[in-house]
Amino acid sequence: MFRIQPPAVLPARRHSEAHKRENGVMRMIRQIVRDTSFLSQRAEPAGLDDLETARDLLDTLAAHREECVGMAANMIGVNRRVIVFENEGEDMVMFNPEIIRESGPYEAEEGCLSLPGTRKTRRWQTIKVRYQNELFQDRIKTFTGWTAEIIQHEIDHCEGILI
Ligand SMILES: [Zn+2]
Repeated sequence: MFRIQPPAVLPARRHSEAHKRENGVMRMIRQIVRDTSFLSQRAEPAGLDDLETARDLLDTLAAHREECVGMAANMIGVNRRVIVFENEGEDMVMFNPEIIRESGPYEAEEGCLSLPGTRKTRRWQTIKVRYQNELFQDRIKTFTGWTAEIIQHEIDHCEGILI
C-alpha cells in the first residue's frame, strides 16, 4: 500500500529483477506485478517454503520504501498468503493472516504499488489478526489506525481483492 502523503504522488520507481549483495547476503528485489487478473486470484496457504518469499518481499518493500508501506506476495508473483508491512517503523511479516475481529468502520483512500491512482475503500479502525510469525508460531495481535489499514489492504490482496 502507498503512503497518501506527498511522496505518494511521485511516480513509482520501476525496478527490474535485481540482485544486490549486502553484508555477504544475496538480496532479491522482485519486479512488481501489475496484471490484475493474476492479482485477482485467491492466494494459497503459505508454508515453510515461503520463508524465502518473505525475504524477497521484505527486500522489495525496502526498495520501494519512499512510497510503499506494505506488500503481499502476489505482488511479486508468488500466489501465497504472505504479507509484509511497516509497523511503527519496523517491518513485520505475517504468514496466513486472517482478521478475527473488527470494529469502527470508516472510509479510507488508498493507493497500491500494483495499480494506478488512489481509490476509496472501507476499513476498520481496529482489527484483531491471527497469523504465523517468521518462526511459524501462531500469534494473535490487535492493531489500530494506520497499521491496521495497511494490514487490511494486504490481507485483501491475499483474497484477490484490489482496492
Ligand atoms: Zn496493494
